[in-house]
Amino acid sequence: MRWPYAFAQDGDVALSRGSWLRSAAEPYASLAEAELADRLISRVSTSPPVPSQQVSASTALLEVDRVSIDYVTGARVLRATHQVSLQVHAAERFVLLGASGCGKSTLLKAMAGFVPVSEGAIRLGGAQVQGPGPDRVMVFQEFDQLPPWKTVRENVMFPLLASRRTGKAEARERADLYLEKVGLSRFADVHPHQLSGGMKQRVAIARALAMHPKVLLMDEPFAALDALTRRRMQEELLALWEELRFTLVFVTHSIEEALVVGSRVAILSPHPGRLRAEINTHAFGLASGGSAEFEAAHQRIHRLLFDEERAGAQTAGDTSSSAATGLRRVA
Ligand code: ADP
Ligand code: MG
Repeated sequence: MRWPYAFAQDGDVALSRGSWLRSAAEPYASLAEAELADRLISRVSTSPPVPSQQVSASTALLEVDRVSIDYVTGARVLRATHQVSLQVHAAERFVLLGASGCGKSTLLKAMAGFVPVSEGAIRLGGAQVQGPGPDRVMVFQEFDQLPPWKTVRENVMFPLLASRRTGKAEARERADLYLEKVGLSRFADVHPHQLSGGMKQRVAIARALAMHPKVLLMDEPFAALDALTRRRMQEELLALWEELRFTLVFVTHSIEEALVVGSRVAILSPHPGRLRAEINTHAFGLASGGSAEFEAAHQRIHRLLFDEERAGAQTAGDTSSSAATGLRRVA
């Protein structure tokens, strides 16, 4: 996969370069760099979100309100997400869990503003999301989301500079601070190809956090890592969250990862993606694996994902154990 893929995934909105970019004092070193700026700007556009006509009275930071999303290819219309409603509160670790193809990435891209909704609305702080903005930053699964011609520090600085969020001195300061937080201070001057997969993901996380986004969006960020590194990255993400208390929306297809990473888990069913249930998972953490409660929650989610009929019967007559994990049946 060539690297620009991560910045040009299907469904991304290709925006033309902002006029301020053309007036940037420093010319780009290469065509590739200018193209990168285009891609990043389409993600970190400085345009403020347009306030919705009905400002939500809800206290949720991020609200997905009966959202359906269709992909139209020629005469075919594919409904990827059907009337999904979710509320994400500040400092929550919200997980979207579901099998491949159930619309997790689509929903996350809609939150980021890369994919338009067909019906319903997404609101951030009461204002309707109508495109990408620097208040939402995404971390992808692919290791090649870092431009290879920039050093690690330059990679972290780049969106801050490209979106004019900070000047050079502050961008550098923030880059060094967040690289320290992900344990990569010693690697600030190397290029991405000199890093392991886990280290590249740490750089992507540092780059995202350095933007101080209102919401950090992560699309299966650890799925391509080996099991041990993945576990380590989950630990590090939770430690970062303990320290910084950012608001996280995290996509995974792993039940175990959802239970460990999330404080709340939304379970999606496929074709089209609908919300099946929501589970409070505050009680579970890195040390919970193997406990009876963890196994019970794991099995309950498994049933919801793969055996919906039985899950319905089980949940209806199983109020005590449902209460233990705060399970709320949605459909
Ligand atoms: P997930 O992330 O849960 O695996 P996706 O959001 O990637 O699911 O996809 C949901 C559905 O939408 C799938 O059926 C997929 O094939 C379809 N889809 C995703 N992206 C596009 C696209 N750009 N054009 C058409 N269909 C798409
Ligand atoms: Mg996906």
